[in-house]
Order: sequence, then structure tokens, then C-alpha cells
Amino acid sequence: MNALAMLGGPRTVPPEMNGGPWPVVTEQDENAVLRVLRSGRLTAASADEAEVPALEDAWARQVGTENCTAVASGTAALQAALTALGIGPGDEVVLPALTMNATAHAVCRTGADPVFADIEPDTFTLSADRARDATTSRTGALLPVHLHGLPADMDGLSALARERGVPVVEDAAQSHGALHRGRATGALGEIGCFSLHPSKNLPACGEGGLITTDSADLHNALAEIRNFGERPPTGTRGYVALRSGSNFRMSPMMAAFARSQLERMPEYAESRQRSVTALLTRLAGLPGLRVPVVPEGRTHAWHIIRFRLVPEELDLPDVPTPALRAALHRVLRAEGVAVSRYQTAPLPAHPAFRAPGAGAERITEEFPVSCATVDGSLCLQRRHMGPDSGPTLSAYADAFEKVWSHMDLVRRMARSRPHEPGWQNAVEVR
Ligand SMILES: *Cc1c(COP(=O)(O)O)cnc(C)c1O
Repeated sequence: MNALAMLGGPRTVPPEMNGGPWPVVTEQDENAVLRVLRSGRLTAASADEAEVPALEDAWARQVGTENCTAVASGTAALQAALTALGIGPGDEVVLPALTMNATAHAVCRTGADPVFADIEPDTFTLSADRARDATTSRTGALLPVHLHGLPADMDGLSALARERGVPVVEDAAQSHGALHRGRATGALGEIGCFSLHPSKNLPACGEGGLITTDSADLHNALAEIRNFGERPPTGTRGYVALRSGSNFRMSPMMAAFARSQLERMPEYAESRQRSVTALLTRLAGLPGLRVPVVPEGRTHAWHIIRFRLVPEELDLPDVPTPALRAALHRVLRAEGVAVSRYQTAPLPAHPAFRAPGAGAERITEEFPVSCATVDGSLCLQRRHMGPDSGPTLSAYADAFEKVWSHMDLVRRMARSRPHEPGWQNAVEVR
């Protein structure tokens, strides 16, 4: 048995094994950007600009909605979608306690109040029961997040939304191509919001976002909201702001690049599915490690892979999970596995969103699953995304198996650092 790399043994995953680049940029992508540069039509407001509408058409077809509106980022998509629905001061929007902070920022920018609800322990997505507890007479919308690329429990959440008479806004920033009962995320609620950040499953070569909806009214409102509240440019500009808006337009270079990427998105998704499934199949048997769950009727876009740790299964019932997580993090990184943390504290604990007087105890009580998740899990990001990630993920599986065969040492490390700081430290709350 080889010694652990941390103790001077051979490293399982050599440094050059990094899964390959993401995004993958081909000559076709480069030509798409050059085409825009040479056209002189450098903004979506340029006369005869056609790249942005072409991406919108292609994405609406891909998702299966009547309409698509391209905007400047995923965050802008969320803010514009909520605004189009008329969400504003006095309204509450229910969203999961575990997501990227952009989801909550978008709510706050409309003037509405974010109301957090806890997630499910196995899928890491918004719990329909907790969302139900969080609704009030002021609830204006439900905002589930298809976190990590897995569709949220849309059966439960859609039923709740119908019952309360409120729309569902999907944060699909991480779930391009993921299906729920055969329908794509982005087509499961009133309105869907995607990010084209280069790290995401459909990348632009900078910032970008897409909004999908079947509603012509919402689509028309979005066209104004993204364009200073003015009527979309046709012929002579009117300069009249008809409603509150902003400049949320997408750059044509982003649109051309993303449309070129979209042609290869299904191919990349398929190879990612293959290499991630092979990895998870090998890791599923390791005690104390829970691989991601994909409930029946859903598919996973594998934007992020989150492993949940179970200290009791490793004979560490007395060791807090942050200690086990920190020990495994160190040992796996030394072997060359790029494990990382995705999110270090639940959103209701972030200073930007924290209720006045909310201490660590109250946050733990209200959002136990989100707190336990950030403290007791490890993630893989980016290196599994590209079409050549198979060999890297196979070496990752070797490394996990090696580390598990040295579990005695990991146990000693975890026991020696029982006070490893948890999420409270990331946000400095007591
Ligand atoms: C990336 C992301 C966003 C924000 O998208 P940007 O394009 O970076 O503004 C919103 N929500 C989630 C869940 C995300 O992952």
C-alpha cells in the first residue's frame, strides 16, 4: 500500500491531469466572435444586430418555451424576471438558504424581501415543505434553485405555487439541459433564468444571461426592462422611459460565442454524464461518503458534484463534521484531487441578508440542513466539466480509494482538530 502523498508517498493524480480546459474554445467559437468584431455591430442596440435574437431563438427551441430574452448576466436575468412579474417593495420571495448569493441579491434589488427556506438533505435543493412554512400573505413568488445542476422538487413546489396563487421563477443558472419529467429546467415555472458565465454549463466568453418564458406579456416587459424601460429599438429611437428599467442588454459577442457553444452543448453533456457516472459508481461504496442523489424523473447537469460526509459511518461519531471535512480536504488535495468548498455559509447568515439579531444558534435552528451541508460536504467543480475529463476523474476515484484505505490516519487527523471552524466563522457570527 502506497503511503499518502501528504506523508511523502506518490501523488495519485499528477498536476498536468486537470480535466482539460473549461470552457473548450474552438476555432468555430473564435470565428463567431471575430464575425461580430468585423461587423461593427457591437451592442444589441446596433441597427440590424442579429446575433442576440439568433441566440434567443436557439435557446427558446432548446428549452421548449415560446420566448427567450438575452440579458447581461444571470443575476440581471433574475432581477429582470422578478421585475417583469411585478415583484417589488412589500413582497416576499421564498428562496433556498443554500445557493449562490446572486439569487438573494436579485430579490433585494427589486425592493422585495428574501425569505429563506431550508433545503432537502439528499438533493440540496429547496424543500417544498419548508417553502410552505415560509409562505405568508405577502409571498409574491417562489424562487427555487436547481442547485449543482439538479432540478428542484418541482412537483411539490409547483403544487404549492398553485395553491398560493403565486408564480415560480426558476434559478436555472447551473442546470442547462437538466430535465424534470422530460421537460427542461427553464420551462418548469412561469419564467426561467440562466447564467452564461464561462464557468457554467453553457458558457459565453464573458458575462451573459438568458430568460425563458411562455408568456408574451412577460417577454414584452423584459424587452423594455433590459433597455432603460424604453420600447425595444425599431427604427428611430423614442428615448422615452415607459417603465423602470436598466441596461441589462447582452453583448453580441457573448451571443455569438454562446450560440457556437450551444451546438456542442449536448455532446459535452453526454460525455460529462459518462465520466461523472463512472466516478460516482466507484465512490458509491465508500463508507461515510454519500454521492449525489438523482431522484427518479430528473436528470442532473453535473455543474457541481457535492459529496456529503457521514462521520458515524467512519467510526467518528464524536467528531464534528468540519473536522472530518478539513482532514479529508487536506489529504485528497495532496493526492491531486481538486476538492473544494462551494459556499461556506447559508445565505441567511451572510451579513448582507442576516435578520437583525439573528445569531448562530437561531440560524442553525431555522436552517439545520443548509448549515450541516456547508459544514459536512466537499465539492468538485470545473475539472469534470470538459469532454476530456474521463481519465482525470478515473484517477480521482483511485485517489479516493487510496485515501479510504488510510482511514486510520484520516481519523487521527480529524480527532486531533476537533475545533475546526464551521460556517459561523466564515460569516463571523456567534
Ligand atoms: C452563477 C449563478 C448566478 C449568477 O449568474 P451570473 O451570470 O454570475 O450573474 C445565480 N444563481 C446561481 C445559482 C448561480 O450559480
